[in-house]
Amino acid sequence: MKKTLWGKTKDGADVYLYTLTSGNLEVRLTDFGAHLVGVRAPDRAGNVADVVLGFDSLDSYLRGSNGYQGALVGRFGNRIAKGRFAIDGVTYQIPVNNGPNALHGGPVGFDRYLWKAREADGGVEFTHVSPDGDMGFPGALTARVRYTLAGNTLRLDYSATTDKPTILNLTNHSYFNLRGDEEGDILGHVAELAADRYTPVDAGQIPTGEIAPVAGTPLDFRTPHAIGARIGDNFEQLKLSRGYDHNFVVNGAAGTLRRAARVTEPEHGRTLTVETTQPGVQFYTGNFLDGTVTGRHGKKYQQRAGFCLETQRFPDAPNHANFPSTVLRPGETFQSATAFTFAAE
Ligand code: BGC
Repeated sequence: MKKTLWGKTKDGADVYLYTLTSGNLEVRLTDFGAHLVGVRAPDRAGNVADVVLGFDSLDSYLRGSNGYQGALVGRFGNRIAKGRFAIDGVTYQIPVNNGPNALHGGPVGFDRYLWKAREADGGVEFTHVSPDGDMGFPGALTARVRYTLAGNTLRLDYSATTDKPTILNLTNHSYFNLRGDEEGDILGHVAELAADRYTPVDAGQIPTGEIAPVAGTPLDFRTPHAIGARIGDNFEQLKLSRGYDHNFVVNGAAGTLRRAARVTEPEHGRTLTVETTQPGVQFYTGNFLDGTVTGRHGKKYQQRAGFCLETQRFPDAPNHANFPSTVLRPGETFQSATAFTFAAE
């Protein structure tokens, strides 16, 4: 692991860039927001490119409002309807930041903080302590994410503890483009999702509570399909979200590391396989990127410049008794793992 000083926060604290290398991959991380800054990977001809969208300068991360590029999202990834939920009969209010709803932990999420870093075997572990009442969430929460690189696999191990009952949904919000971050959109990428079911949303992108089959819909990626093949179909769920932006229920038992997704890019031959212990994965096709954010090499991140596979618990789970619980109680340790494997064929 290589550690280099990258800059300073507004408060003058040092921010570092961490570089991990293994096989033919190079992974860059920063302790600011525990972001995944980049992953350089070869294509089938051996040409190396960054396959995670991001920025060369710390300033872009400090400024925020980048569409959560590479961010470690918390305390609660994705939406909470009206920012409101209850635990044990007590109601809590998170400030809303996405229309009437709270998104990715509210206006000042975990991606806005400098995390404490320490070297771990094969990588780096980041720790963030969110105080009781932070963004309206109850309980002082200690969240950890350990990024490790072995062979061609970047693994994220998450854990968390609390001193009062709270809710929790941690994820990483990287946008991938297996053509390389300089090149075009992701519509020609071919995706396969190990999900028989998904959670439909309403016009505010809040789950209706239904857990619906993907069969017979453009959300059926149980066999490989180009992302762009059906994205414009006249299907209400796609219209409401301007493309794919849905929580897919990963087949198999949550708690065991199992395949959630595999994406291939036919032209350059790069592949990404995602495994997770989480119950769900948000497949998001960069629908709200609009070219206002400039990434590396001066590339403007336009709609569909990247896709996300955010492994997670279900959005708005605290308001749906039929969704797996997101409550964490004192004495319990939350744990999850997600593995991203990059290859070329
Ligand atoms: C959500 C999108 C949202 C995006 C913000 C995703 O996790 O599903 O609806 O626009 O994050 O970057």
